[in-house]
Amino acid sequence: MEKLKNILVVGGTHGNEMTGISLLQYWANSDYLQRPGLNIDTLLANPQATQLGRRYVDYDLNRAFTKELLDKSNETRSEDIKRAREIAEIYSENGSKFWPDMVIDIHNSTANMGQTLIINNPHPITRSIVAHLAQEFPMVKILQEPILGDNNPYLASIGKLDLTVEIGPQPHGTLNADLFFSTEKLVQRVLDLIVQYNENKLPLASLETTYFEQSDAVDYPRNSKHELDAMIHPNLWGADYQALEKGAKVFVDFSGNAIQWKGETTWPCFIGEVAYLEKKIAFIKTDKKTALW
Ligand SMILES: [Zn+2]
Repeated sequence: MEKLKNILVVGGTHGNEMTGISLLQYWANSDYLQRPGLNIDTLLANPQATQLGRRYVDYDLNRAFTKELLDKSNETRSEDIKRAREIAEIYSENGSKFWPDMVIDIHNSTANMGQTLIINNPHPITRSIVAHLAQEFPMVKILQEPILGDNNPYLASIGKLDLTVEIGPQPHGTLNADLFFSTEKLVQRVLDLIVQYNENKLPLASLETTYFEQSDAVDYPRNSKHELDAMIHPNLWGADYQALEKGAKVFVDFSGNAIQWKGETTWPCFIGEVAYLEKKIAFIKTDKKTALW
């Protein structure tokens, strides 16, 4: 890839995730996001949901960027899917703005995610950027998601390179000042590293890096009516990215009986994320890996 020029910084993809929404508001009144050689645009992705203070209006916007849902020949009444189509068009190759070389999409999680950097497209430039950030920011964790191609539902997939930032724990609709400031620093540093890459000063595949490779999601135990039958066990609560070994307590039912983990060792994340209740996800399994990034 040539130099990175067009960078899109996104907040409010989910309308109740306040760190990104508030950072956009802060950056709108300043020239803090300017960098030599970069054309940086900001986007409040879901203004309608932000107005309502909700994750989305009628469909999760950050699950609406698959090829099928963006296809205008499929009629839709969904406000969020219409918005996804609008964003994808504006930021496409022939769109009114630009086709982003990189999209940085800022999210929050109620889970203890720290500053999780999620990448789908495992490009060496993005890998080097997140590897450097992991060395500089103690709260950074790297989450490599599977390559999804046309089925990629995430907003960041409209860019040539993608970087989704998940900041937590923060209850949705609230704003934690420490997380606000540390995320501001993190995004600024991403832009610095992009400039460094453009100046041929960012070595690729040079840092030994620990990352977490996403595998399956795990649902809560449910009764015959599909209602929750257990909760996250207190031992697991907040223990994102820590090894969960076979036999460890993972859920506890309403009578207080612990339920043990029967699978192989995994490093769960998004533990108890409130927005994933509707998606029937209690946590997401990962494998811990090390490589030169
Ligand atoms: Zn989100």
